[in-house]
Amino acid sequence: MDFQLTEEHIMIRDAARDFANTELLPGVIERDEKQEFPKEQVKKMGELGFLGMMASPEYGGGGMDTVAYVLAMEEISKIDASASVVMSVNNSLVCWGLDTFGSPEQKEKYLSKLTTGEALGAFCLSEPEAGSDATSQKTTAIEKEDHYILNGTKNWITNGNSADYYIVIAQTDREKKHKGINAFIVEKGSKGFEIGPKENKLGIRGSDTHSLNFNDVKVPKENRIGEDGFGFKFAMKTLSGGRIGIAAQALGIASGAYELAKKYSQQRKSFGTEICNHQAIAFKIADMHTSIQAARHLVMKAAWDKDNGNNYDLSGAMAKLFASKTAMDVTVEAVQVHGGNGYVKEYHVERLMRDAKITQIYEGTSEIQKIVISRSVLRD
Ligand SMILES: Cc1cc2nc3c(=O)[nH]c(=O)nc-3n(C[C@H](O)[C@H](O)[C@H](O)COP(=O)(O)OP(=O)(O)OC[C@H]3O[C@@H](n4cnc5c(N)ncnc54)[C@H](O)[C@@H]3O)c2cc1C
Repeated sequence: MDFQLTEEHIMIRDAARDFANTELLPGVIERDEKQEFPKEQVKKMGELGFLGMMASPEYGGGGMDTVAYVLAMEEISKIDASASVVMSVNNSLVCWGLDTFGSPEQKEKYLSKLTTGEALGAFCLSEPEAGSDATSQKTTAIEKEDHYILNGTKNWITNGNSADYYIVIAQTDREKKHKGINAFIVEKGSKGFEIGPKENKLGIRGSDTHSLNFNDVKVPKENRIGEDGFGFKFAMKTLSGGRIGIAAQALGIASGAYELAKKYSQQRKSFGTEICNHQAIAFKIADMHTSIQAARHLVMKAAWDKDNGNNYDLSGAMAKLFASKTAMDVTVEAVQVHGGNGYVKEYHVERLMRDAKITQIYEGTSEIQKIVISRSVLRD
């Protein structure tokens, strides 16, 4: 068992840390307040290779492992979780999905632009009546000669307006239930494809979340990913890896808040001493540090499982469940350590607390992770 990072991993982590501090930190408060998408910053992330880290170099990807990806996700998320969700969706759900299951033509046409940031991707599974229960797809894709006709509504789509290419899950044959579901690549600007208003969110306010409407959208057959009926499996496999990315995002939010709280506790004085000398505060720091380390081990184990060809459904679900709870607990305590200053924007921790909550909701709520975990362990 080796707990050491390789030199390459350390280099990637440090590059991500440097990028986050120089490019994302300035303006992060304003972007959150104005709900402004980090367009320039995302472009730079693409140029630096942070948007297609695990994808094949043949299609412009970094060819890196999942450990490298989660290290970078943690660093970006410490500073700006709105930027890291863009990174997460593009890497885990869009690029990985296309790289693993797409046709050579799809990879040539779409993946090679998505890995470099020339284009941005979105993953469209959720619907007004199909969230946790993703099998209840109401969006239809009716087969006609050389194309499909898509109709329906998708909800809560990250990169909803900023994306160029959308992976859309839809029901082709209702009688076959989840085996009658397909996944398609839909291009922005397709006739009948409308983007709804932006959601006004509690956290990750810089990311753009939209509903999408498909009204008789014509999608060529060559844009279907995999065999007929592969869509649900595609979504589940992709989300299983995506969860590791969200777990790393949660870990980053927690460690960002922890670092700020630790530093603040060593500077702020009350009753003639730094507040970290009060045991109540010192113990908070101890609890934060311990739970973050535990979360990091779970995240790294899940990434390692994926890199080593092991099943990662269970380890990914445990990592997401635990890291997202850690993000909530640690950010709430980080606000507490900051006292009144924790309640205002300048000190960052209130934003991190708001950002933390989403990690317990998207890519499978905590309740859904517990279903995955309990089914897996009870089966053994
Ligand atoms: C900011 C944001 C970004 C998002 N980005 C995307 C995206 O890019 N693409 C995409 O497809 N989706 C996206 N989502 C959607 C997200 O994945 C769903 O919101 C999530 O899966 C929960 O679905 P729901 O909102 O319909 O809640 P519901 O499924 O209605 O759940 C409501 C509550 O009931 C619980 N629950 C439901 N079923 C069970 C059960 N069987 N047992 C126990 N408890 C249960 C849930 O855990 C939850 O607490 C995003 C959501 C948000 C808020």
